[in-house]
Formats: sequence, structure tokens, C-alpha cells
Amino acid sequence: MSRRKRVYEGNGKVLYEGPEPGTLVQYFKDDAIARQKRGVITGKGVLNNRISEYLMQRLGEIGIPTHFLRRLNMREQLIQEVEIIPLEVVVRNVVAGSLAERLGMAEGTALPRSIVEFYYKSDDLGDPLVTEEHITAFGWSTPQELDEVMHMALRINDFLCGLFYGVGIRLIDFRVEFGRLWQNDDMRIVLADEISPDNCRLWDLKTNEKLDKDRFRRDLGQIAEAYQEVARRLGILLEGGPTDMRGPETMQ
Ligand code: UDP
Repeated sequence: MSRRKRVYEGNGKVLYEGPEPGTLVQYFKDDAIARQKRGVITGKGVLNNRISEYLMQRLGEIGIPTHFLRRLNMREQLIQEVEIIPLEVVVRNVVAGSLAERLGMAEGTALPRSIVEFYYKSDDLGDPLVTEEHITAFGWSTPQELDEVMHMALRINDFLCGLFYGVGIRLIDFRVEFGRLWQNDDMRIVLADEISPDNCRLWDLKTNEKLDKDRFRRDLGQIAEAYQEVARRLGILLEGGPTDMRGPETMQ
């Protein structure tokens, strides 16, 4: 592992000081945590590093600013240091998980339109669902920032829905985080954290097989294999080493 100074350790990642001021190194661990459940999914960090790199790059290409700079090695990527807005932004296309539980709806029901939800980032409180009223009243974010966050989250959703659909995967929901990137006196909101099967629900288009962290949460087994399948379909599985990167495999 890296000898750099550790600045933060979360459930799935460690952040180290980067080589230049304003940069960080994001290290992807194999650890998995979901509510009370803890485990290790061998190879998960390598796959998430690669999948998140790929998705952030594609999003960057359509004009979504992200914190991603470049992948350094199998488990690390260089990112820009941002001030994280303390919100987990969830976008949903299909009922699943906590929405199914909270409102007693059947998992798998298509939503009439995409829904954006905000959760306040607090491990102690278990990331409670909050409204824009709470967020702006308590100063976690401003109304202007929230407008931008909502707009970006929906653009990310539209793009990722299409990208995954093209490889035979339904994007059920996902969670993202945003940060403030300060450059001199200017500030812009950028996509931060990661986008991977750890924070998306991805179902096979034909069979509804789960290809995401629900395999861990619900003890379904074959977890790393599912993450690997996502990478394989995106054409980014490193079968023959770092030069072996095909494009996405279109599903018929
Ligand atoms: N999610 C996440 N981190 C969390 C909670 C949720 O990445 O701490 C993701 C989760 O993988 C899913 C989406 O956010 O893709 C919606 O999760 P939900 O609110 O249904 O909660 P869960 O059922 O995962 O507890």
C-alpha cells in the first residue's frame, strides 16, 4: 500500500495526500460494509477503480465536471481535492432498496419519472433522508448549489441509463456525491467519490440478475463475479494486462 500521508479512511476507500497541492490519491479497498454487515470481496477495489475511472471519463466527455484526474495503478487514482457537500444524492428509476421498504412498494416497479433524493451524510445518524428545507436551513448547501446538483444528477442519470442499456444492464438507482472545487476565488460543483457497482443498482436487462452490491447485502454470492461482469460488458476488463481494453460490447 502507499506510504503517503493518509487524510481520510472510509468504508471502501482511503484518501492519501497527492503529489501536488490540491490533489489526493484515492485507494480502492476490497472491504465491503452495508449496515451491520462487513466483509471482504477479493478484487473489488481493482474493479471499482477501473469502472469508476471509465464512467467518470465518459461523463467528463459530455461536460460533467468531475474530481477524477487519472488512474495511477490497479487500486489508486489521482483526484482533485474538493470540499465535499455533506449529502448523498440518490437518483432512482425503478423502486428498490430503502424506497421499497419505506413506502411499501414492490421492488422492480418502474417509477413514473426519475426521482432525486438527498440523505445527510452522517454515519452516527445512519444517513437520514432530508429535504431541501433541511439542507438550506442548516447551511449544508445553498439553493443555487442544490439546483446545480439536481441538474447534474439528472444528466448523469440520463447518460448512465443509456450507457448501461447499451450493454444489457438496467440502471435501477445510484448514489453520488458532489464537492466544491476551489480555484483561486472561483468555485464550481464537481462530481466526486466514485461510481461503481458499490453505489449503483444494476440489473441484467433480460434476466433481472443483480450485478451490484445487493449480492453482498442479500448474501446472493458470486459478488466479485458480478462486478467483473459489469466491467466485461463495459469492455474494460483487463484480461490480458493493461493494453487489453476493448470498447463496450453492445448487447442485442
Ligand atoms: N447507496 C450507497 N451508499 C449508501 C446508501 C445507498 O451507495 O450509504 C446506494 C445504493 O447502492 C443504491 C442507492 O444508493 O444504489 C439507493 O440505496 P437505498 O436508499 O435503496 O438504500 P439501501 O437499500 O442500499 O440501504
